[in-house]
Amino acid sequence: MNKPTLPARPVFSLVIPIWNEQAVIPVLYERIVQVLESTAEPWELLFVNDGSTDRSLALLVTLQANDPRVKVLNFSRNFGHQIAITAGCDYAEGDAVIVMDADLQDPPEVLLRMIDRWREGYDVAYAVRTKRVGETRFKLWSASLFYRLIRSIAEIDIPMDAGDFRLMDRKVVLAMRGLREKNRFMRGLSSWVGFKQVAVEYERAARYAGETKYPLRKMVRLAFNAITSFSHLPLQMATYTGFFFAGFSGLGIVLAVLMRLFGHQQLLGQATTLVSVLFLGGVQLIFLGILGEYLGRIYDEVKNRPLYILADTYGWEEQARGKTEPPSPC
Ligand code: UDP
Ligand code: MG
Repeated sequence: MNKPTLPARPVFSLVIPIWNEQAVIPVLYERIVQVLESTAEPWELLFVNDGSTDRSLALLVTLQANDPRVKVLNFSRNFGHQIAITAGCDYAEGDAVIVMDADLQDPPEVLLRMIDRWREGYDVAYAVRTKRVGETRFKLWSASLFYRLIRSIAEIDIPMDAGDFRLMDRKVVLAMRGLREKNRFMRGLSSWVGFKQVAVEYERAARYAGETKYPLRKMVRLAFNAITSFSHLPLQMATYTGFFFAGFSGLGIVLAVLMRLFGHQQLLGQATTLVSVLFLGGVQLIFLGILGEYLGRIYDEVKNRPLYILADTYGWEEQARGKTEPPSPC
């Protein structure tokens, strides 16, 4: 078979974050090549190796050596899924950039429908899951709770049941490159930038192989990042709760005075006192924690560390060892 040649400038860039996905990489590559070839346009496939400890990197480098349309960014350690997507979008050169997971839960065939919408003139085509196969009940329930919560409190319109699987026009990607916040919620940012957006429905398949890389701890972190990035409501809740309890205790004071004036010597109930002190102590600690969540994020911004560090790049002429930003603004 002839070695494919590198197109001058790709029309489509596929960005795929990889963390210990050795079991899916070969199948993933085949399925993607099949789908992208059917578009009859030049494309590039950009893998971001997010500090894998298995053979993922070796597999990606081999793919790259045999097919120059494949490019690999290799992080110096695990920086997380959202940062890996960011790096991919930083380096992607296509007119349309498509972000998808490696595990084939996002079927590559859906790409074609996204591309159709893009050709119709939409700038962002995001995939909405109508069904999810092979996920635990807890994941389905917690995801649905999360989407409802973020929709009701966020200051922007974040679509329900949409993950990071989406196609973005180059101008959207360029706008997003300007958003360098450290605790990132990419699908929120891609809504925030605006432009013409459209949903593409699909059924989310089960993971092709391997385990989910999103345990509960990481899901909670992502949810906190999403909420703190797009809402001040948790902070304002402290004010509302404060007013509520201040009003309530004001009434209590009036009541206590009246009871005293009209013959009751004292209000009974040590247990009530104890419970209300503990309750308010708890409420205060929760709000202190919420303040801490925002404060920690402000601290992350102030430190202003780069989002990621590259150990190696494969597929670019100039190796960008130790670099933190794209070789040149493309
Ligand atoms: N991933 C990553 N870094 C991480 C965690 C995940 O690059 O720290 C990648 C992973 O390899 C996959 C994608 O992000 O391509 C989504 O992860 P996963 O499928 O495990 O998440 P789920 O679908 O279970 O929410
Ligand atoms: Mg998955």
